[in-house]
Amino acid sequence: MTMVSIQTNLKRVHERIQRACAACDRDVSTVRLLAVSKTKPWELVRQAIEAGQRDFGENYLQDALLKIAASGEYRPIWHYIGAIQSNKTRDIAERFDWIHTVASEKIARRLNDQRPPDLPRLNALIQVNINDEAGKAGVTESALPTLIERMLPCQRIRLCGLMAIPEQTTDTARQRENFARLADLGRAMATRFGLVEFSELSMGMSDDLEAAIAEGATWVRIGTAIFGVRQ
Ligand SMILES: *Cc1c(COP(=O)(O)O)cnc(C)c1O
Repeated sequence: MTMVSIQTNLKRVHERIQRACAACDRDVSTVRLLAVSKTKPWELVRQAIEAGQRDFGENYLQDALLKIAASGEYRPIWHYIGAIQSNKTRDIAERFDWIHTVASEKIARRLNDQRPPDLPRLNALIQVNINDEAGKAGVTESALPTLIERMLPCQRIRLCGLMAIPEQTTDTARQRENFARLADLGRAMATRFGLVEFSELSMGMSDDLEAAIAEGATWVRIGTAIFGVRQ
C-alpha cells in the first residue's frame, strides 16, 4: 500500500462534504465529520488531529482506551460507535463524550448511572435497525418510542438523536430512501416527545456520505476515506 496522507484524505473528504452540501443548499457547518479510527494506530489519529480533525469514532473498547490514554493533551472528542455489552458501559460512560449506539433501556440506564457527576452529560444517539435486518444492531422502528420514553428520566444523558447503518446498496435512490426514513423518524420522535434537542442524525459512511447529507445527516462517520482500508 502506498503511504496514506491523512491530511490529503481529510481535505478530500471535506471537499466531498462541501460539494454535497452545495448540491442540497445546506450550510456546511451543519454537517460534522466523525473520523472513524477503529483498528488504526494512535499515530494516525495524531496526524489527523494535527490536520485539524477533532472528533474520532471507535468501535472496539480496549483498542480505543489505549488511544484515549495516548491522546492526553490533544484532547480530541471521542465517540463510541460500536456494539455495547453491559460490562463495557462503565468505561464508555467515563471515557467518551458521545455514544451513537444505544439500543436498549438496560444499557441506557447503566450509562446514566455510571456517568461521572463531574463530567458533562453523555451525548447519546439511539441506533435504529432501519431496514429490519436480521442480526443487525439497533432497535426496530416500532420499539423506538418505548426506548425514548424509558430514557427520558436519565438525567446524565443528553438524548440528542438517531443513528443508523442502513442495508448495503450502491443504488443511490435506495440509500436516500433509507436515510430519509431515519430523518423522518427523528422528526416524528422529537414532535411526539416534545424534545427540543433531538436533532442529530448520525448517518453516512465513506461510500454513501452524499446521500446521507442530502437527507439531513448532521454527523457523517468516515473511516476508509480518511485512514485507508482496514486489514
Ligand atoms: C467502521 C464504521 C464506519 C466507517 O466506515 P467506512 O466505510 O470505513 O467509512 C462508520 N460507522 C460505523 C458504525 C462503523 O462501524
